[in-house]
Amino acid sequence: LFVDTALEEEGEIVIDSAQANYLVRVLRLKAGAQVKLFDDRTGEWLAELAHIGKRDAILRVEGHLRAREESPDLWLCFAPIKKGRIDWLVEKGCELGARRIMPVKTQRTQIGKVKHDKLRAYCIEAAEQCERTALPELANMVPLDTMLKDWPEDRTLFYAAERGGGSFRKALVENDGPAAVLIGPEGGFTEEEDEAIRALRQTAPISLGPRILRADTAAVAAISLWMAGRGD
Ligand code: SAM
Repeated sequence: LFVDTALEEEGEIVIDSAQANYLVRVLRLKAGAQVKLFDDRTGEWLAELAHIGKRDAILRVEGHLRAREESPDLWLCFAPIKKGRIDWLVEKGCELGARRIMPVKTQRTQIGKVKHDKLRAYCIEAAEQCERTALPELANMVPLDTMLKDWPEDRTLFYAAERGGGSFRKALVENDGPAAVLIGPEGGFTEEEDEAIRALRQTAPISLGPRILRADTAAVAAISLWMAGRGD
């Protein structure tokens, strides 16, 4: 369970009705049951469900289980796609271990703004389900040209290009530092955007095979291949 407060030995945490409800009604836990907590700061702790109230519950922290993960240094940069699928894409990015998730506004991005709180809730739920001890950082949506202008010197941008992409394996061997995968929108990048992305020194255009994948499929494939290639 994610708690947004720094955990410490013997500490007591009061959780709100939504989380109490999840433990008591969904997981059917009784007082005295043990729960694993993480706070995205100090790692994962074991706690006891010490008290169940009408609208909240108290968890008593017993011991430290795991340090906060050093998640693989991979960013997922993606052009938001149709509503229902962006949630799914963010959830998979979190499950697959992305350290940062960055929505990028491109000329063919169909949605105006990204509901940050809602996507953060998806990240929390995904992290709880896959037992991460850290949440991916969820960046605000930036225009593609801003992202390219501010791109970090030492980070390789593995650009998923359905046309003119190179061997991912080769690109991985040649670039083993901090990384990002960039996935385009439905309809893809425009000519002009494609040129601007390829003009960036840190860009490595990669192919995900001869088929045209949906953006969310491409995101999952690209992250998984990068993780496998890095042995993470
Ligand atoms: N140009 C595509 C078309 O004609 O339908 C639309 C783009 S595709 C739906 C969405 C994104 O997924 C692309 O911008 C690219 O980033 C990625 N993608 C899809 N298939 C790919 C492939 N075979 N190799 C690399 N990237 C791919």
